[in-house]
Amino acid sequence: MADATTCYLSLGSNLGDRAANLADALRRLRNHPQLQILNVSSVYQTAPVGPQDQPDFYNIVAQVEANCTVKELLEIAQQVEQEMGRVREEHWGPRNIDIDILLYGTETIDTPELQVPHPQMMQRQFVLVPLAEIAPDLILPNGQTAADAALPDDPTIQCLDIQLW
Ligand code: ATP
Ligand code: CA
Ligand code: CA
Ligand code: CA
Repeated sequence: MADATTCYLSLGSNLGDRAANLADALRRLRNHPQLQILNVSSVYQTAPVGPQDQPDFYNIVAQVEANCTVKELLEIAQQVEQEMGRVREEHWGPRNIDIDILLYGTETIDTPELQVPHPQMMQRQFVLVPLAEIAPDLILPNGQTAADAALPDDPTIQCLDIQLW
């Protein structure tokens, strides 16, 4: 585990059985030999970004120990999305699973295919609230802790009583 990197992933679903989709994605990530899941947030029901005429999302954040490069981590995440038959036509439209890399240690990558830290994460309470639950003291790209960046009273984000794993 000498090269392990602590990473944070955002998972979301707003099509089909949303909790089952999140659980399925976690199981697939956990079964990957290069990944270890260290912690998973509660499930949060959140209003969709972009088009509003679609179901609410279920969102979680997972803390993952990765024995791979950040590019390989993106490939793993995209492979899980494909295995789960992700179909989506509209940008920011409904999808059965979305897996985004929020943070890969303290590394920064900015290529056309991959930007880490995730460029939108500081603007997204559906990311910050679950992140603050599992890593309140984590320092974010703007220097704030996750606990300080999260707004726990956001009315569009509701913590659900669902056990995923
Ligand atoms: P958003 O990035 O605003 O959350 P999205 O998740 O709906 O939008 P997708 O269609 O799932 O966007 O992904 C489009 C592309 O984003 C992917 O093919 C991938 O190459 C790229 N990408 C760039 N940075 C990241 C990242 N940090 N995590 C996941 N995908 C990323
Ligand atoms: Ca996304
Ligand atoms: Ca994505
Ligand atoms: Ca993107």
